[in-house]
Amino acid sequence: MSTIVTSKAQCRDCYKCIRNCPVKAIGLKDGQAWVVEEKCILCGKCIVVCPQQAKATASEQAVVEKFLADGERVVVSLAPSYLATAFFSSPWKLVAALKALGVFRVEETLLGAKLVAAEYGRVFRKHRPGTMITSCCPVAVQIIEKYYPNLLPNLPGVVSPMVAHGRLIKAQWGQDTKVVFVGPCFAKKSERAATKGASAIDAVLTFEELKTLFTAQQINPEGLADQLPAESVPRLRTFPLKQGTLKAAGIDDHLSADVISVCGVQECMETFAALSKGEIRPQVIEALACRGGCINGPAMDQNLTLPARRARLFALAPVVTERGEGGKGEVKKPEPAVDLQRRHTATGF
Ligand code: SF4
Ligand code: SF4
Repeated sequence: MSTIVTSKAQCRDCYKCIRNCPVKAIGLKDGQAWVVEEKCILCGKCIVVCPQQAKATASEQAVVEKFLADGERVVVSLAPSYLATAFFSSPWKLVAALKALGVFRVEETLLGAKLVAAEYGRVFRKHRPGTMITSCCPVAVQIIEKYYPNLLPNLPGVVSPMVAHGRLIKAQWGQDTKVVFVGPCFAKKSERAATKGASAIDAVLTFEELKTLFTAQQINPEGLADQLPAESVPRLRTFPLKQGTLKAAGIDDHLSADVISVCGVQECMETFAALSKGEIRPQVIEALACRGGCINGPAMDQNLTLPARRARLFALAPVVTERGEGGKGEVKKPEPAVDLQRRHTATGF
């Protein structure tokens, strides 16, 4: 079954999704548009453009509700673009609502990003031959796995910030801790499913799915006092923006023909094609499938423009620094060594 499903009842056969899919992964089945999983890169474009909301990924809301009902220790890894969402009047209401839900601890995924960026920096400074393509974005990784498998050796074999954070949380709080990632990206669901237990992530929700969960549990975030995440890394605040990974890895000073940053599926594919043909030979390519970076992820609220989201991120970011990195009374644990390795395999069709 495809990760993206089409509701037969809601689909009105307008074929807007077929026209907008950047990799032509939608075919017809009984006259209705249907996603061909082997070709789909989970960019989420079809979900965003469908006027009938007929396309969706399966929600893991019930999984999270069960963790909480069973009294599991649940830690939420909050993607850094939460500052740029407008699903809640402020991101601190989102954190407060998670705590009201019974979540043990809320941390920013930036803790995982810090580990991954340091690893990229190490690989970059080793000056290994060939081009390193960053692997933070699961859609960019799927483009390579499905359409440019010849470039698999160019991926550094490093997990994404989400997975790094999941492994860190489990090492700190126990392997039985349930880690729930909340973010702006549908592809994170397939990344978790593809790596199963090795991903260290037990469920993935989008911001909107989280809002639905709050409503189902009769929690009104707007009526709660603000709360900050327990841990963050304020100096990496620009991580969900274009060039954010390079900056975090200390590579941005080198932006040149040797270090390039590409975003959007089209630009990623053009760049991978040029690299495959030997037309370019940069040392590093930062590849993000969303124009402008993760703050423009497909599961962000679509009412805000990209510039408005950027402005929101920069306006709210200092609050975390000013009020301290963590919520009051939150314990910090020492940071153990975390295995950051992962394998990539071709999944072409
Ligand atoms: S998620 Fe992206 S690649 Fe997959 S079918 Fe939809 S538009 Fe096409
Ligand atoms: S750039 Fe877009 S697709 Fe890639 S990780 Fe960020 S939100 Fe997901």
